[in-house]
Amino acid sequence: MATVAIIGGGYGGAATAKALDEIADVVLVDPKDAFVHNIAALRGLINPEWADRVFYPYGRLLTRGRVVQDRAIRVDPGAVTIASGERIPADYIVLASGSSYPFPAKMDVNDSDTAKAKIAITRSELAKADRVLLLGAGPVGLELTGEIKAVWPKKAVTIIDPIDDVLSGQYTDELRHELRRQLGELGVNLLLGTKLVEEPQSPPGVAGTVTAITTSGQPITADIWFRCYGIVPNSDYLSEELASARLANGHLEVTPELRLAGQETVFAIGDVTAIPESKRGGAAGRHAQIAAGNIRALIEGRDELTAYEPAPPLILLPLGPTGGVSQLPGRGFVGAEETAQIKGRDMFVGNYAELFNVTAE
Ligand SMILES: Cc1cc2nc3c(=O)[nH]c(=O)nc-3n(C[C@H](O)[C@H](O)[C@H](O)COP(=O)(O)OP(=O)(O)OC[C@H]3O[C@@H](n4cnc5c(N)ncnc54)[C@H](O)[C@@H]3O)c2cc1C
Repeated sequence: MATVAIIGGGYGGAATAKALDEIADVVLVDPKDAFVHNIAALRGLINPEWADRVFYPYGRLLTRGRVVQDRAIRVDPGAVTIASGERIPADYIVLASGSSYPFPAKMDVNDSDTAKAKIAITRSELAKADRVLLLGAGPVGLELTGEIKAVWPKKAVTIIDPIDDVLSGQYTDELRHELRRQLGELGVNLLLGTKLVEEPQSPPGVAGTVTAITTSGQPITADIWFRCYGIVPNSDYLSEELASARLANGHLEVTPELRLAGQETVFAIGDVTAIPESKRGGAAGRHAQIAAGNIRALIEGRDELTAYEPAPPLILLPLGPTGGVSQLPGRGFVGAEETAQIKGRDMFVGNYAELFNVTAE
Protein backbone atom coordinates (compact mmCIF):
# COMPACT_ATOMS: atom_id res chain seq x y z
CA MET A 1 0.00 0.00 0.00
CA ALA A 2 1.24 3.54 -0.79
CA THR A 3 2.32 5.75 2.10
CA VAL A 4 1.08 9.35 2.16
CA ALA A 5 2.74 11.75 4.61
CA ILE A 6 0.76 14.89 5.37
CA ILE A 7 2.50 17.88 6.97
CA GLY A 8 0.00 19.75 9.13
CA GLY A 9 -3.38 18.69 10.50
CA GLY A 10 -5.31 21.95 9.99
CA TYR A 11 -8.38 22.40 7.76
CA GLY A 12 -6.60 21.12 4.65
CA GLY A 13 -4.35 18.41 6.12
CA ALA A 14 -7.00 16.79 8.33
CA ALA A 15 -9.48 16.54 5.44
CA THR A 16 -6.79 15.08 3.14
CA ALA A 17 -5.80 12.52 5.76
CA LYS A 18 -9.41 11.42 6.26
CA ALA A 19 -10.06 11.22 2.49
CA LEU A 20 -7.06 8.93 1.90
CA ASP A 21 -7.24 6.82 5.08
CA GLU A 22 -8.97 3.84 3.46
CA ILE A 23 -6.69 3.57 0.40
CA ALA A 24 -3.25 4.52 1.74
CA ASP A 25 -1.05 4.31 4.81
CA VAL A 26 -1.55 7.85 6.02
CA VAL A 27 0.93 9.52 8.39
CA LEU A 28 -0.30 12.90 9.62
CA VAL A 29 2.44 15.03 11.21
CA ASP A 30 1.53 17.99 13.44
CA PRO A 31 3.19 19.34 16.62
CA LYS A 32 -0.24 20.11 18.11
CA ASP A 33 -2.17 17.52 20.16
CA ALA A 34 -5.49 18.67 18.67
CA PHE A 35 -6.93 20.31 15.57
CA VAL A 36 -7.52 24.01 16.22
CA HIS A 37 -10.82 25.24 14.82
CA ASN A 38 -9.54 28.79 14.25
CA ILE A 39 -12.84 29.95 12.80
CA ALA A 40 -14.29 29.83 16.34
CA ALA A 41 -11.15 31.04 18.15
CA LEU A 42 -12.32 34.59 18.83
CA ARG A 43 -15.72 33.39 20.11
CA GLY A 44 -13.76 30.99 22.33
CA LEU A 45 -11.68 33.89 23.67
CA ILE A 46 -14.69 35.90 24.77
CA ASN A 47 -17.14 33.19 25.79
CA PRO A 48 -15.86 30.44 28.14
CA GLU A 49 -18.59 28.05 26.97
CA TRP A 50 -16.99 28.10 23.53
CA ALA A 51 -13.38 27.42 24.57
CA ASP A 52 -13.71 23.62 24.23
CA ARG A 53 -15.31 23.96 20.79
CA VAL A 54 -12.03 25.30 19.40
CA PHE A 55 -9.99 22.11 20.03
CA TYR A 56 -10.64 18.64 18.57
CA PRO A 57 -8.22 15.83 19.49
CA TYR A 58 -6.79 13.91 16.52
CA GLY A 59 -7.43 10.54 18.21
CA ARG A 60 -10.59 9.60 16.28
CA LEU A 61 -9.86 11.27 12.93
CA LEU A 62 -8.29 8.21 11.27
CA THR A 63 -9.27 4.55 11.34
CA ARG A 64 -6.10 3.07 9.82
CA GLY A 65 -3.54 5.87 9.67
CA ARG A 66 -1.35 7.30 12.40
CA VAL A 67 -0.88 10.80 13.76
CA VAL A 68 2.66 11.75 14.75
CA GLN A 69 2.82 14.64 17.20
CA ASP A 70 5.94 16.43 15.97
CA ARG A 71 7.12 19.10 13.55
CA ALA A 72 8.51 18.44 10.08
CA ILE A 73 11.96 19.96 9.88
CA ARG A 74 12.92 18.74 6.40
CA VAL A 75 10.89 17.51 3.45
CA ASP A 76 12.58 15.75 0.52
CA PRO A 77 10.61 14.40 -2.47
CA GLY A 78 10.47 10.88 -0.91
CA ALA A 79 10.65 11.45 2.85
CA VAL A 80 9.82 13.70 5.78
CA THR A 81 12.23 14.23 8.66
CA ILE A 82 10.66 15.28 11.95
CA ALA A 83 12.22 17.12 14.91
CA SER A 84 12.76 13.87 16.88
CA GLY A 85 15.12 12.75 14.07
CA GLU A 86 12.76 10.09 12.70
CA ARG A 87 12.69 9.89 8.88
CA ILE A 88 9.31 8.94 7.43
CA PRO A 89 9.63 7.59 3.86
CA ALA A 90 6.55 8.37 1.76
CA ASP A 91 5.33 7.74 -1.79
CA TYR A 92 3.29 10.95 -1.72
CA ILE A 93 3.64 14.03 0.47
CA VAL A 94 1.07 16.76 1.08
CA LEU A 95 2.33 20.08 2.45
CA ALA A 96 -0.54 21.52 4.51
CA SER A 97 1.35 23.46 7.17
CA GLY A 98 -0.86 26.54 6.84
CA SER A 99 0.04 29.85 8.39
CA SER A 100 0.78 31.47 11.72
CA TYR A 101 -1.04 34.53 13.03
CA PRO A 102 -0.74 36.40 16.35
CA PHE A 103 -2.60 34.90 19.34
CA PRO A 104 -5.53 34.80 20.10
CA ALA A 105 -6.66 34.43 16.44
CA LYS A 106 -4.31 31.45 16.08
CA MET A 107 -2.59 29.47 18.84
CA ASP A 108 1.14 29.92 19.50
CA VAL A 109 1.49 26.83 21.73
CA ASN A 110 1.08 23.16 20.74
CA ASP A 111 -0.56 21.71 23.83
CA SER A 112 -4.34 22.30 23.90
CA ASP A 113 -4.56 22.50 27.72
CA THR A 114 -1.86 25.20 27.71
CA ALA A 115 -3.67 27.02 24.89
CA LYS A 116 -6.98 26.87 26.82
CA ALA A 117 -5.25 28.24 29.94
CA LYS A 118 -3.77 31.09 27.87
CA ILE A 119 -7.19 31.88 26.43
CA ALA A 120 -8.73 31.96 29.94
CA ILE A 121 -6.00 34.33 31.21
CA THR A 122 -6.42 36.64 28.20
CA ARG A 123 -10.21 36.62 28.68
CA SER A 124 -9.84 37.77 32.29
CA GLU A 125 -7.35 40.48 31.24
CA LEU A 126 -9.83 41.68 28.61
CA ALA A 127 -12.70 41.62 31.12
CA LYS A 128 -10.77 44.14 33.27
CA ALA A 129 -10.20 46.59 30.39
CA ASP A 130 -12.72 49.36 29.61
CA ARG A 131 -10.87 50.64 26.52
CA VAL A 132 -9.64 48.17 23.89
CA LEU A 133 -7.25 49.04 21.04
CA LEU A 134 -7.11 46.74 18.01
CA LEU A 135 -4.37 47.14 15.39
CA GLY A 136 -5.87 46.05 12.06
CA ALA A 137 -9.30 46.52 10.42
CA GLY A 138 -9.17 43.21 8.55
CA PRO A 139 -11.38 40.18 9.27
CA VAL A 140 -9.67 39.37 12.59
CA GLY A 141 -9.85 42.92 14.05
CA LEU A 142 -13.47 43.25 12.94
CA GLU A 143 -14.57 39.82 14.21
CA LEU A 144 -12.85 40.42 17.54
CA THR A 145 -14.68 43.76 17.82
CA GLY A 146 -18.03 42.06 17.19
CA GLU A 147 -17.35 39.37 19.81
CA ILE A 148 -16.26 41.94 22.42
CA LYS A 149 -19.26 44.18 21.79
CA ALA A 150 -21.70 41.24 21.93
CA VAL A 151 -20.67 40.43 25.51
CA TRP A 152 -19.42 43.81 26.77
CA PRO A 153 -21.38 46.47 24.81
CA LYS A 154 -20.06 49.26 27.05
CA LYS A 155 -16.38 48.63 26.36
CA ALA A 156 -14.89 51.34 24.11
CA VAL A 157 -13.25 49.71 21.07
CA THR A 158 -10.86 51.59 18.77
CA ILE A 159 -9.64 49.99 15.55
CA ILE A 160 -6.71 51.54 13.73
CA ASP A 161 -5.50 50.64 10.22
CA PRO A 162 -3.20 52.37 7.69
CA ILE A 163 -5.60 51.47 4.84
CA ASP A 164 -8.38 53.98 4.12
CA ASP A 165 -11.28 51.57 4.56
CA VAL A 166 -12.28 48.50 6.56
CA LEU A 167 -11.56 45.05 5.12
CA SER A 168 -9.12 45.31 2.22
CA GLY A 169 -9.80 42.85 -0.61
CA GLN A 170 -12.12 42.54 -3.57
CA TYR A 171 -15.39 43.08 -1.74
CA THR A 172 -18.33 45.20 -2.86
CA ASP A 173 -18.92 48.81 -1.77
CA GLU A 174 -22.33 47.68 -0.47
CA LEU A 175 -20.63 45.21 1.91
CA ARG A 176 -18.17 47.82 3.24
CA HIS A 177 -20.94 50.40 3.62
CA GLU A 178 -23.09 48.01 5.68
CA LEU A 179 -20.08 46.95 7.73
CA ARG A 180 -19.25 50.57 8.60
CA ARG A 181 -22.93 51.14 9.46
CA GLN A 182 -23.00 48.19 11.89
CA LEU A 183 -19.70 49.27 13.45
CA GLY A 184 -21.14 52.79 13.87
CA GLU A 185 -24.20 51.33 15.57
CA LEU A 186 -21.92 49.45 17.98
CA GLY A 187 -20.14 52.72 18.76
CA VAL A 188 -16.75 51.55 17.46
CA ASN A 189 -14.10 54.22 16.97
CA LEU A 190 -12.57 53.63 13.51
CA LEU A 191 -9.24 55.34 12.82
CA LEU A 192 -8.46 54.58 9.17
CA GLY A 193 -5.64 55.77 6.92
CA THR A 194 -3.31 56.18 9.89
CA LYS A 195 -1.13 54.02 12.14
CA LEU A 196 0.71 54.20 15.43
CA VAL A 197 4.12 55.89 15.38
CA GLU A 198 5.30 52.85 17.33
CA GLU A 199 3.61 49.79 18.80
CA PRO A 200 2.64 49.98 22.50
CA GLN A 201 5.52 49.09 24.84
CA SER A 202 3.46 46.62 26.90
CA PRO A 203 2.76 43.11 25.54
CA PRO A 204 -0.52 42.53 23.65
CA GLY A 205 -3.44 40.91 25.48
CA VAL A 206 -2.32 42.06 28.94
CA ALA A 207 -4.34 44.65 30.88
CA GLY A 208 -2.48 47.89 31.67
CA THR A 209 -2.68 51.48 30.53
CA VAL A 210 -1.35 51.89 27.00
CA THR A 211 -0.66 55.30 25.51
CA ALA A 212 0.23 55.67 21.87
CA ILE A 213 0.21 58.32 19.19
CA THR A 214 -0.89 58.00 15.58
CA THR A 215 1.11 59.26 12.58
CA SER A 216 -1.57 61.95 12.22
CA GLY A 217 -0.73 63.14 15.76
CA GLN A 218 -3.77 61.78 17.58
CA PRO A 219 -3.09 60.40 21.09
CA ILE A 220 -4.79 57.12 22.05
CA THR A 221 -5.15 55.68 25.54
CA ALA A 222 -6.37 52.11 26.08
CA ASP A 223 -6.41 49.47 28.81
CA ILE A 224 -5.43 46.55 26.56
CA TRP A 225 -4.37 46.07 22.93
CA PHE A 226 -4.26 43.24 20.38
CA ARG A 227 -2.30 42.79 17.14
CA CYS A 228 -4.82 41.86 14.44
CA TYR A 229 -2.53 41.56 11.42
CA GLY A 230 0.49 39.52 10.36
CA ILE A 231 -0.23 36.21 8.61
CA VAL A 232 2.97 34.20 7.90
CA PRO A 233 3.03 30.97 5.84
CA ASN A 234 4.74 27.99 7.55
CA SER A 235 7.10 26.70 4.86
CA ASP A 236 10.63 26.71 6.27
CA TYR A 237 11.27 22.95 5.95
CA LEU A 238 11.83 22.37 2.22
CA SER A 239 14.98 20.57 1.07
CA GLU A 240 17.19 22.18 -1.60
CA GLU A 241 15.41 20.11 -4.24
CA LEU A 242 11.99 21.52 -3.33
CA ALA A 243 12.98 25.05 -2.30
CA SER A 244 12.64 26.61 -5.76
CA ALA A 245 8.83 26.42 -5.36
CA ARG A 246 9.04 28.73 -2.32
CA LEU A 247 8.40 32.39 -3.17
CA ALA A 248 10.08 35.30 -1.36
CA ASN A 249 6.99 35.76 0.86
CA GLY A 250 7.08 32.10 1.95
CA HIS A 251 4.10 30.91 -0.09
CA LEU A 252 4.50 27.79 -2.22
CA GLU A 253 3.87 27.75 -5.94
CA VAL A 254 1.61 24.91 -7.09
CA THR A 255 0.41 23.55 -10.43
CA PRO A 256 -3.34 23.56 -11.24
CA GLU A 257 -3.42 19.92 -9.97
CA LEU A 258 -2.01 21.22 -6.64
CA ARG A 259 1.38 19.59 -7.07
CA LEU A 260 4.29 21.58 -5.70
CA ALA A 261 5.80 23.34 -8.75
CA GLY A 262 8.29 21.01 -10.45
CA GLN A 263 7.26 17.90 -8.45
CA GLU A 264 5.30 14.73 -9.36
CA THR A 265 4.53 13.31 -5.91
CA VAL A 266 4.60 16.32 -3.59
CA PHE A 267 1.38 18.34 -3.28
CA ALA A 268 0.66 21.58 -1.38
CA ILE A 269 -2.70 22.91 -0.19
CA GLY A 270 -4.27 25.59 2.01
CA ASP A 271 -2.83 28.83 3.40
CA VAL A 272 0.76 27.80 2.65
CA THR A 273 0.15 27.95 -1.12
CA ALA A 274 0.39 30.92 -3.47
CA ILE A 275 -3.02 30.13 -5.02
CA PRO A 276 -4.52 33.55 -5.92
CA GLU A 277 -7.60 33.55 -3.68
CA SER A 278 -8.49 34.53 -0.10
CA LYS A 279 -6.77 32.33 2.49
CA ARG A 280 -9.68 30.38 4.01
CA GLY A 281 -10.30 27.16 5.87
CA GLY A 282 -13.11 26.47 3.39
CA ALA A 283 -10.65 26.85 0.49
CA ALA A 284 -8.14 24.55 2.25
CA GLY A 285 -10.93 21.95 2.50
CA ARG A 286 -11.65 22.23 -1.24
CA HIS A 287 -7.92 21.96 -2.04
CA ALA A 288 -7.89 18.82 0.12
CA GLN A 289 -10.61 17.17 -1.97
CA ILE A 290 -8.71 17.91 -5.22
CA ALA A 291 -5.29 16.86 -3.88
CA ALA A 292 -6.68 13.69 -2.25
CA GLY A 293 -8.58 12.83 -5.45
CA ASN A 294 -5.43 13.30 -7.54
CA ILE A 295 -3.31 11.18 -5.18
CA ARG A 296 -5.99 8.49 -5.26
CA ALA A 297 -5.90 8.60 -9.10
CA LEU A 298 -2.09 8.23 -9.12
CA ILE A 299 -2.24 5.34 -6.62
CA GLU A 300 -4.85 3.60 -8.80
CA GLY A 301 -2.70 4.12 -11.92
CA ARG A 302 -4.92 6.72 -13.57
CA ASP A 303 -3.03 9.69 -14.92
CA GLU A 304 -5.94 12.04 -15.58
CA LEU A 305 -5.77 14.52 -12.73
CA THR A 306 -8.29 17.21 -11.76
CA ALA A 307 -7.35 20.91 -11.84
CA TYR A 308 -8.36 23.26 -9.03
CA GLU A 309 -10.36 26.38 -9.89
CA PRO A 310 -9.56 29.24 -7.47
CA ALA A 311 -12.67 30.59 -5.76
CA PRO A 312 -13.98 34.13 -6.40
CA PRO A 313 -13.71 36.61 -3.49
CA LEU A 314 -15.67 35.21 -0.55
CA ILE A 315 -16.08 36.24 3.05
CA LEU A 316 -18.33 35.40 5.98
CA LEU A 317 -17.72 38.06 8.61
CA PRO A 318 -19.85 37.82 11.75
CA LEU A 319 -19.92 40.70 14.22
CA GLY A 320 -20.87 38.57 17.21
CA PRO A 321 -23.59 35.87 17.04
CA THR A 322 -26.22 38.12 15.41
CA GLY A 323 -24.41 40.77 13.31
CA GLY A 324 -22.05 40.92 10.35
CA VAL A 325 -21.86 40.82 6.56
CA SER A 326 -20.89 38.30 3.91
CA GLN A 327 -19.99 38.07 0.23
CA LEU A 328 -20.91 34.72 -1.27
CA PRO A 329 -20.04 33.31 -4.71
CA GLY A 330 -23.05 33.63 -7.03
CA ARG A 331 -25.01 35.57 -4.39
CA GLY A 332 -23.00 38.74 -3.78
CA PHE A 333 -23.56 40.69 -0.57
CA VAL A 334 -25.75 39.36 2.28
CA GLY A 335 -26.39 41.07 5.62
CA ALA A 336 -26.51 40.28 9.33
CA GLU A 337 -29.34 37.78 9.42
CA GLU A 338 -27.93 35.42 6.79
CA THR A 339 -24.37 35.82 8.08
CA ALA A 340 -25.60 34.77 11.53
CA GLN A 341 -27.56 31.88 10.07
CA ILE A 342 -24.66 30.54 7.96
CA LYS A 343 -21.78 31.14 10.39
CA GLY A 344 -22.31 33.56 13.30
CA ARG A 345 -24.47 31.30 15.48
CA ASP A 346 -22.58 28.02 15.34
CA MET A 347 -19.22 29.01 13.77
CA PHE A 348 -19.29 25.69 11.81
CA VAL A 349 -18.64 23.74 15.01
CA GLY A 350 -20.92 20.86 13.94
CA ASN A 351 -18.95 20.23 10.70
CA TYR A 352 -15.64 19.83 12.53
CA ALA A 353 -17.06 17.82 15.43
CA GLU A 354 -18.25 15.37 12.75
CA LEU A 355 -14.86 15.27 10.96
CA PHE A 356 -13.08 14.53 14.25
CA ASN A 357 -15.79 12.15 15.41
CA VAL A 358 -16.48 13.95 18.70
CA THR A 359 -19.72 15.23 20.19
CA ALA A 360 -20.26 18.98 19.81
CA GLU A 361 -21.43 20.41 23.14
C1 LIG B 1 -9.87 34.31 13.72
C2 LIG B 1 -9.95 33.62 12.40
C3 LIG B 1 -11.19 33.40 11.81
C4 LIG B 1 -11.28 32.75 10.58
N1 LIG B 1 -12.52 32.55 10.04
C5 LIG B 1 -12.61 31.87 8.88
C6 LIG B 1 -13.89 31.55 8.33
O1 LIG B 1 -14.93 31.91 8.85
N2 LIG B 1 -13.95 30.81 7.22
C7 LIG B 1 -12.84 30.36 6.59
O2 LIG B 1 -12.96 29.66 5.59
N3 LIG B 1 -11.59 30.65 7.07
C8 LIG B 1 -11.46 31.39 8.19
N4 LIG B 1 -10.22 31.68 8.70
C9 LIG B 1 -9.01 31.29 7.95
C10 LIG B 1 -8.62 29.86 8.27
O3 LIG B 1 -8.42 29.67 9.64
C11 LIG B 1 -7.33 29.49 7.51
O4 LIG B 1 -7.48 29.79 6.16
C12 LIG B 1 -7.06 28.01 7.71
O5 LIG B 1 -6.62 27.82 9.04
C13 LIG B 1 -6.06 27.45 6.72
O6 LIG B 1 -6.05 26.06 6.85
P1 LIG B 1 -4.73 25.21 6.56
O7 LIG B 1 -5.13 23.79 6.69
O8 LIG B 1 -4.09 25.66 5.31
O9 LIG B 1 -3.72 25.60 7.73
P2 LIG B 1 -3.84 25.75 9.30
O10 LIG B 1 -5.25 25.70 9.75
O11 LIG B 1 -3.01 26.94 9.62
O12 LIG B 1 -3.16 24.43 9.86
C14 LIG B 1 -1.80 24.18 9.67
C15 LIG B 1 -1.35 23.09 10.61
O13 LIG B 1 -0.01 22.78 10.27
C16 LIG B 1 0.74 22.61 11.46
N5 LIG B 1 2.15 22.87 11.14
C17 LIG B 1 2.75 24.06 10.93
N6 LIG B 1 4.07 23.87 10.67
C18 LIG B 1 4.28 22.53 10.70
C19 LIG B 1 5.43 21.72 10.51
N7 LIG B 1 6.64 22.23 10.22
N8 LIG B 1 5.29 20.37 10.64
C20 LIG B 1 4.07 19.81 10.92
N9 LIG B 1 2.96 20.56 11.10
C21 LIG B 1 3.06 21.89 10.99
C22 LIG B 1 0.12 23.59 12.45
O14 LIG B 1 0.35 23.16 13.80
C23 LIG B 1 -1.36 23.52 12.07
O15 LIG B 1 -2.05 22.56 12.85
C24 LIG B 1 -10.10 32.34 9.94
C25 LIG B 1 -8.85 32.56 10.52
C26 LIG B 1 -8.78 33.19 11.73
C27 LIG B 1 -7.42 33.41 12.34
